[in-house]
Amino acid sequence: MKKVIVIRYSEIYLKGKNRGFFERVFATNIERALRGIRHELHRYSGRYLVEGFDEEEADAIAERLKKVFGIHSMSIACETDNSIDSIAEAAFAVSRPSGTFKVETHRADKKYPLTSVEISREIGGRLLAHFRGLSVDVHHPSFYVYVDVRENGTALVFGEFFPGADGMPVGTAGKGLLLISGGIDSPVAGHMMAKRGMTVECLHFHSYPYTNLQAKEKVVTLSRTLSEYTLVKSLYTVSVTHIQEAIHAKCAPELMVTLLRRFMFRIAERFALRLKAQCLITGESLGQVASQTVEGMTSSNSVVEKLPVFRPLVGFDKNEIIERAMKIGTYETSVLPYEDCCTVFLPDYPAIRPKIPDILKEEEKLDVDGLIAEAMQSLEKIDL
Ligand code: ATP
Ligand code: MG
Repeated sequence: MKKVIVIRYSEIYLKGKNRGFFERVFATNIERALRGIRHELHRYSGRYLVEGFDEEEADAIAERLKKVFGIHSMSIACETDNSIDSIAEAAFAVSRPSGTFKVETHRADKKYPLTSVEISREIGGRLLAHFRGLSVDVHHPSFYVYVDVRENGTALVFGEFFPGADGMPVGTAGKGLLLISGGIDSPVAGHMMAKRGMTVECLHFHSYPYTNLQAKEKVVTLSRTLSEYTLVKSLYTVSVTHIQEAIHAKCAPELMVTLLRRFMFRIAERFALRLKAQCLITGESLGQVASQTVEGMTSSNSVVEKLPVFRPLVGFDKNEIIERAMKIGTYETSVLPYEDCCTVFLPDYPAIRPKIPDILKEEEKLDVDGLIAEAMQSLEKIDL
């Protein structure tokens, strides 16, 4: 008897002629998530099976698979030969010791001497004899024991279903560039887009030496956590130090954040096009801070010429975002104290409703193209 893992995927996206494409990406993503752990991945009657791993690795594999989008549910199953005694042994192993249950059998091997109903009845009887605390309830059982008699002379027996991450396989819905800060929101925004199947690359702006190396390290950690879902193993960084210095030296302080945001968006779009990304993604949420008003968003959108800007958190409350951050494992890193580049030179009263003509007047004082070109020179790629 050996352990295997049954993977079921969300059916919806597999309809129609894209099925082959989705399945290929899905299987590749599972392989990438399990890189470094010995295993084999096989298709089996509309599902996938991970096998050939060391038993001690079963939990580690399940942990990684929980982060693969497109997986609807999983079960750790016992694989045995298809004799009824072996199937019963496996059923004992996956059953709970007490409660109401039902055995459900699927028989792909139509030459098997017993029918599905007969197998269920036989295994049910043996379970009742083995565990005194069990009783059968075919309508509302508290748990199921599933038996799959396969065509290759083996049988799979499993009980619990563990929920997967759902969503669509990453890589089936284009590529986006996430503007990632060290805060709570942007990693959650990236996670949401990846869940819809988007490949999410990360770009971070820093103001070294005004911001320290720990601040950068924090973003590296966040990106690494996010990469367990997005499977993208790099982070890009760009320095906006000189841009902030120039704005600080020449422009109205209340527009500092607005102006910096516009530089960030311009640089992000340029870089996104280079990466062949098709949109920008931010963690903005309406009204959360002074710069996240509709006017603030209009001001930053208006410098992005070719790409849409997605803000998946725009209608979320902070509490909802925090809840998600905790669930995906970024919260603890995000709340570590650090200086974001936005807090350097932060004015006492940032403009809440920046007006485009005022912004343009301030920007005239700056060599916008020169500053952007210089910032692009500072681009760094970090392998996660
Ligand atoms: P977050 O929690 O994501 O930092 P926030 O509530 O702190 O968001 P802001 O600091 O106003 O909000 O940033 C809004 C968005 O702008 C962020 O969600 C992120 O997408 C982007 N952003 C802010 N600072 C940076 C940065 N240093 N590098 C890259 N993107 C940034
Ligand atoms: Mg922030």
